[in-house]
Parts: sequence; C-alpha cells; structure tokens
Amino acid sequence: MDFDAIVVGSGISGGWVAKELCERGVKTLLLERGRKVEHRVDYMDFAAPWQVPNRGRVPEDERAQHYAIQSTSHAFNAASKQWWVRDSEHPYLTPPDRPYSWIRGYHLGGRSITWGRQVYRLSDHDFGANLRDGRGIDWPIRYADISPWYDRVERFAGVSGTTEGLEQLPDGPFLAPMDLNCLELDFKQKIEQLHPTRRVTTGRCAHLTEPTAEHIALGRGPCQLRNVCERGCGYGAYFSSLSATLPAAKKTGNLTVVTDAIVDKLDYDHAKRRISGVRVIDANTRQGKSFQARVVFLCASTIGTAQILLGSRSEYFPKGLANRSDAVGRYLMDHVVGIGAIGTHPGFLDRYYYGRRPTGFYLPRYINITERDDVDFARGFAFQGYSHRSSWQRAQGEVGVGAGLKQKLRTPGRWEMRLVGFGEMLPRADNRVTLDEKRTDKWGIPLVHIDCTHGENERLLGERANRDAVAMLAAAGFENIESNGPVRPPGHSVHEMGTVRMGHDPATSVLDRYNRAHDIGNLFVTDGSCMVSSGTSNPSLTYMALSARAANYAADLLTSGDI
Ligand SMILES: Cc1cc2nc3c(=O)[nH]c(=O)nc-3n(C[C@H](O)[C@H](O)[C@H](O)COP(=O)(O)OP(=O)(O)OC[C@H]3O[C@@H](n4cnc5c(N)ncnc54)[C@H](O)[C@@H]3O)c2cc1C
Ligand code: SF4
Repeated sequence: MDFDAIVVGSGISGGWVAKELCERGVKTLLLERGRKVEHRVDYMDFAAPWQVPNRGRVPEDERAQHYAIQSTSHAFNAASKQWWVRDSEHPYLTPPDRPYSWIRGYHLGGRSITWGRQVYRLSDHDFGANLRDGRGIDWPIRYADISPWYDRVERFAGVSGTTEGLEQLPDGPFLAPMDLNCLELDFKQKIEQLHPTRRVTTGRCAHLTEPTAEHIALGRGPCQLRNVCERGCGYGAYFSSLSATLPAAKKTGNLTVVTDAIVDKLDYDHAKRRISGVRVIDANTRQGKSFQARVVFLCASTIGTAQILLGSRSEYFPKGLANRSDAVGRYLMDHVVGIGAIGTHPGFLDRYYYGRRPTGFYLPRYINITERDDVDFARGFAFQGYSHRSSWQRAQGEVGVGAGLKQKLRTPGRWEMRLVGFGEMLPRADNRVTLDEKRTDKWGIPLVHIDCTHGENERLLGERANRDAVAMLAAAGFENIESNGPVRPPGHSVHEMGTVRMGHDPATSVLDRYNRAHDIGNLFVTDGSCMVSSGTSNPSLTYMALSARAANYAADLLTSGDI
C-alpha cells in the first residue's frame, strides 16, 4: 500500500475528508484532476477595477466559443473565469431539447473557490420528507445523526449568522452576523407582522466576522466586506479548501497532494470485495499510473463521481462499480431556480450602508411546514434576498460622458430588492447521468451524457414562489415589481446531487448510513452524489458534515483493522 487512504477531488467535500483523515493520523493521498493553485498568489482579489481586463466583462466571442452557460452567473467575470471549466475543452452531452448546465471547477480547491458561501442546515423536515410523502426512498440518517458534525464543520469553517430557533432551519455556533440594512429591517418587520410564521434573517455565510484562534492559526483573517469573493480571497476570510481544510491537513504531515491527476477507473478485487487500485491519467502527459490504499473516498463532485463509478464497470459490476441497485447516475437533482421577484422601493432615500456585504438575507421555507393551505405540490422553497441602492445612472438606464456622468454615477439611485427562490427538486429515476458508448474526451474517457428535466411539481412550486415573492414585495411597499419567469433548466443553481444515493436497502441505494458502499467495504462517497433528497437549503454544508462524519468513521475502521 502506498497510502492508508486515497481521496479523489480536492473541492469542498474532498478537502474535509482529507483534513479529518490526516488529523486522525491517516496517511492520505489527495488526487486532483485540475492544476495546482497557490492560495493568495493565484487570486486576482487585489486587482483594482482598471487592472481587470474589459472592466470585468468576458468578451462575447470568448463566451460563445468556450462557455455554455456561465455568462449568466454574477461570479463569472474576467477576474474569476480561471476558476470555470471551459465546456469546449471538457465537453458533455445532453439531449437537444433538454439542456443541463454542468458548471465545474477543475483545479486544486474545486468550486470551494467560486461558491457563494451560503450555508444552511437541513432539518428533520428534510431527512424525513421522502418517507413521509413517499416520493423517493428514506434517508438512512436523521438530524440527530448529523447535528454534531454540523457543529464541528461550522466552528472550523466559521459561519456568521443569527440564531432563530426555527424547527426547519436549525441553528449552529455562529460568529457575529452581518447586519441587515434599513430596507431589509423594514421588510422583515412588515413580513413577520403580516405572516407570523415567516422569518427574515441575515444570510448565513461561511465568512469570518470574528476569527477564532483556530482560524488565525491557519493564516485566516476577518472579512473586509469587499465582495470580490469569486476571485479567491487573499485574507482567507471565507471558507475554501485552500484557506482552511487543506492547510489544516498539511499541518499534520500526513497529506500528499497530486494535481493534474485524472482518476478514470477504480480496480475491484472480487475475492476481497475491495477497491484494489485507483487508476490515474496524467492530465499533461496522458501517462497512466495506479495508486493503492486501504480505503478510497470519492469526492469528485456529483456527476464526476458517477462518471468514475460508471466507467469502472467489470464482469462483477456490469452496470458500473458498486451499482447492483442500478441507482448510480440516477436521481440527479438540482434546486429549482429562476424564480422569485424584484422591485424598487420609494423610501429610505436618506439612508445608505457601509461596505460591500458579501451576503444577503434569508427567508426560510414555510410552505408545507407552517403554511399548508392551498398548496397543490409537495415540499417547498426558501428565498435568498439581496437589496442595494444602484447608482442613478444604472437605475435610469442612461449613458453619458465626462463630469456629468461621473456625478451621476456617484449619486445613489432608488433601493432595489430581489427575492431569489430556491425550490426543492424531487428525486426521479429517469433524471440520469450515463456514459456515451462512442465519444470520449481527449484523455480517452467516455463523455458524460446528462438527461435531466424538472417535472410538474417543480413547475407548480416555482409558480407559487413567484406569486409569493410578488405579494411580499407589494406588502412591503415596493413598486415596479417584476415576477421572475418560469423555472430554469436544471443545473443552473449548481447544486447538483443524488447520483450515488444513501439508503437502508442495497437493492435501491448505493451507500449505507456512513456513506460506505453497500457492496464494497473500503469505498466511501461523500460529495453531493450521496444525497437522498434535495431540501431547499444550499447543500454544501451538508456535504461537509457528511464528509467529516464518514472520514472519522473510516478512521475508526482503519484503527480497529476492520478495513
Ligand atoms: C457560482 C457558484 C455559487 C455557489 N454557491 C453556493 C452556495 O452559496 N452554497 C452552497 O452550499 N453551494 C454553492 N455552490 C455549490 C458548491 O460549490 C458545490 O456544492 C460544492 O463545491 C460541491 O463540493 P464537491 O466537493 O462535491 O465538488 P467540487 O467543489 O466541485 O470539487 C470536486 C473536485 O473534484 C475534482 N475532480 C473531478 N473529477 C475528478 C477526477 N476524475 N479525478 C480527480 N479529480 C476530479 C475537481 O477538479 C474538483 O476539484 C456554488 C457553486 C458555484 C459555482
Ligand atoms: S468580502 Fe470578505 S471574504 Fe470576500 S473577498 Fe472580501 S475579504 Fe474576502
């Protein structure tokens, strides 16, 4: 054995597994398909506006040539595009009439650099949902199983927020919250008065408002409210693999990182029912290599992990490794987005705010929890909200030149507020990732084919979210209210999950309650593919907690000699 453990993928989940294993004394090899990235050195967060090409815009021809969808994200710009995979170089397939946006980051740290850092726990409303209404299989865990691990990851990552005492949105050991502005406080007061079971709270985000000794020891500092986080943060003020988990793992002396290492297959030893090797292709030289370890963690992200398992077919697992259930690749979910509303407010023109707060506010799910009347769909949605004063020029949509224009740009316009809905997507077997039989990428790996659509439940839920958002803005005194359109095709929320799901029963699921493959004792999967339902919460915090839990379970098994 070269190592005790191999972790595939250095993003949010792989970073956590590596940290926990290394801290338990496990000699760990982290394999990452993307390039090496140096924390601080490779970021553009200190570039002044005039130092960023094209004033931050990515040229249209470049977008059209290389990127299928990224141009619609605020986090995709000239100072951050290095963190976004070019679809032209890493193609995938979809049916022509069923688009899916597969947004990836192939580099050390994965999408922990570009993520939006919004972190919300799931609750027993989510863990019990499938069992309660029969849509999907039961989660093999409940909130009590994961709650201490949420505590652990929130303390280490550093999460700012307020405690609310809500059943559907459990609290954690939060750092000081970022303040709501005057408009948001007014909105909160009006909405909570009108709807006593709805709550408006500050956005919970993985930012250090008050670094602890543990954070400082890793070289992390307090958030400076610059809101250029998608470029990477030289202060280490938000949580990423590069600012937090990988430095912690490195400190132990137990971590080895190999970048440019594309894992294409796992070898399976049927006699021992174990993974016997992890096969890697060097991204630059295309040379093959194999590594061995006592335990293997797949954290290559939801679709990437399904790709590796499906590509590791053998005579013992003809449908894909660990895929006796035929669930690998199926039940792909994302959150329902493109829903909500926007409006302007006529008041508070004598008020402003300090800094560029890198979070907004949050309105947790109430539908089918505290409000059940007139609901013709299952599950529900939550809103993330953002408000600001745009400059006069933006608000008026005018152009100009010279001193007059500069003066206009310095003059704040009206307040705007946006309610951005995140709805639950149900797990459906035909929402599916498969491998193309004929076409391969430049390393000879079969291309991923994604066939995934929203269903009737998602449509109804989206319509209700649009109506509620409009009604709430109107009730809070907003004008020029515009409802968002129909739900966007899946993939847009970048919360893909579910292709290697957990479950009680090996006949219908791939992983057990500790994220270990039912069929293979030394294989764990802890990225979003393990999810059994999507809930409405941004999911990465749950991936972190499950990763930390599974890594410690595996470390116990390594210690006891049971792996
Ligand atoms: C703009 C944006 C905003 C977001 N906002 C939020 C948010 O506010 N809250 C939230 O919860 N989530 C958010 N997300 C989603 C979040 O980034 C993902 O849920 C999270 O990163 C998933 O973690 P992961 O470890 O599964 O995957 P990743 O972080 O993507 O890491 C996977 C890693 O595996 C590597 N890899 C893939 N295949 C292989 C292979 N074959 N061999 C070796 N290595 C491989 C990749 O290169 C990558 O480094 C956002 C994402 C984006 C892009
Ligand atoms: S807002 Fe905070 S976390 Fe974001 S880039 Fe600035 S200092 Fe870093």
